[in-house]
Amino acid sequence: MTVERTSIDTLVVGAGQAGVAMSEHLSKLGVPHLVLERARIAERWRTARWDSLVANGPAWHDRFPNLEFADVDPDAFASKEQVADYFVAYARKFEAPIRTGVEVRQVVRNAGRPGFTIETSEGVVEANRVVVATGPFQRPVIPPIAPRDSTLTQIHSADYRNPGQLPEGGVLVVGAGSSGVQIADELQRAGKRVYLSIGAHDRPPRAYRGRDFCWWLGVLGEWDAEVMKPGREHVTIAVSGSRGGHTVDFRRLAQQGVTLVGLTKSFDKGVATFEADLATNLARGDENYLSLLDAADAYAERNGLDLPPEPEARVIPADPECVTHPLRDLDLATAGVTSIVWATGYAVDFNWLKVDAFDEKGKPVHQRGVSKEPGIYFLGLPWLSRRGSAFIWGVWHDAKHIADHIVTQRKYLAYYDESQRHARGRNEESAESAEGASAGSRVHKVSEMGVN
Ligand SMILES: Cc1cc2nc3c(=O)[nH]c(=O)nc-3n(C[C@H](O)[C@H](O)[C@H](O)COP(=O)(O)OP(=O)(O)OC[C@H]3O[C@@H](n4cnc5c(N)ncnc54)[C@H](O)[C@@H]3O)c2cc1C
Repeated sequence: MTVERTSIDTLVVGAGQAGVAMSEHLSKLGVPHLVLERARIAERWRTARWDSLVANGPAWHDRFPNLEFADVDPDAFASKEQVADYFVAYARKFEAPIRTGVEVRQVVRNAGRPGFTIETSEGVVEANRVVVATGPFQRPVIPPIAPRDSTLTQIHSADYRNPGQLPEGGVLVVGAGSSGVQIADELQRAGKRVYLSIGAHDRPPRAYRGRDFCWWLGVLGEWDAEVMKPGREHVTIAVSGSRGGHTVDFRRLAQQGVTLVGLTKSFDKGVATFEADLATNLARGDENYLSLLDAADAYAERNGLDLPPEPEARVIPADPECVTHPLRDLDLATAGVTSIVWATGYAVDFNWLKVDAFDEKGKPVHQRGVSKEPGIYFLGLPWLSRRGSAFIWGVWHDAKHIADHIVTQRKYLAYYDESQRHARGRNEESAESAEGASAGSRVHKVSEMGVN
């Protein structure tokens, strides 16, 4: 397809959940728009995750308000394919104007006239506004401590698919957020020797007193928190919907056979070294876990909720040997470790966006997605407006806010156009009457000159 010299009011870049949500709100509000997606709708859900991934939240929760999952029990966890199919079905529901297979390569502000010129793999688009919905997790990040050792297989969690992909031998999984902990569990169950390097984390209970943690975070207002708690900026969240959903419990993972280690510090001559922070990190994770139980109990009591008590949820297993006597270093070859999976997160990549919407560190500057460069919007970024912003249930609400903002801006422009038209009309009228007046005076003069 070609988009050569298309002109559109609003261009949305990316058709993941954010782009689809944006398109729904713009459609409802009658804003002419086009969504360009370089691959397919919800491509990252389909092909940029490991094979066995399921949604972290149950199907009743991890969805948009206007459509339920057709083929997933509301309390079950949709597979990544089902999530991708869901967004395809959603886009079809309102006939979202999405063009797939078109990459946006550059966006520049027009000089001396409004709007932006957008270069794509299929031609040039002109738009008054651009919504950047290219994802919260774009570029896999592997920290610079990664060893330069050609005998080791090293992959980022973004490239991990299944245990069969890794060579024979043990694995060091670095990072114990939702990705790292699920991958470590899967590798260990596949019979591999696994070392799991754990940093600061939150680990809410999967469910408590018969309600999923997504429900608890919702009623407790936690998904709506607008800013991260100070000092918690680098704290990851460890949750899992796999195997029907279960609470992430690192000590049980150790009982299962995974060796827990602290934060990975460095690699030198084939030896990995770890911080002495494993017990502290686990204790902080427990604190977070228990504080949610406390908040849930207080909420249930205050609101007289009839939910079954669950005192056993407060029993924390004893520390295993790997926690009481933690490894501080590990000779990888001696331990038989042949691969490292870096579950160390992602960065964004806005190199193609040549606009004044960033701070000196390259971070988008915006208020609830409305950037400092008029006409440029960001959607789907972590903490865009609140904790839920990068997640399925949060992005839909942020998209609504941006769509409302766009409608307001269109009103201002419409007012400008209208007032310009009036002004032109008035000018033309007065030019005509001036012409008429001067023509009249000429007549007058003629009559003066000729008749009188
Ligand atoms: C492992 C993992 C598990 C997750 N599990 C959950 C979960 O269970 N529940 C939940 O709510 N959230 C989950 N998330 C978080 C979040 O929901 C996903 O990251 C989701 O994919 C974000 O959607 P998005 O539309 O913002 O971005 P993306 O899904 O990344 O979509 C962006 C789209 O933009 C396209 N694109 C990028 N650049 C361009 C360009 N220049 N031109 C054209 N197109 C472009 C991409 O091809 C992509 O399709 C998970 C994230 C990860 C990493």
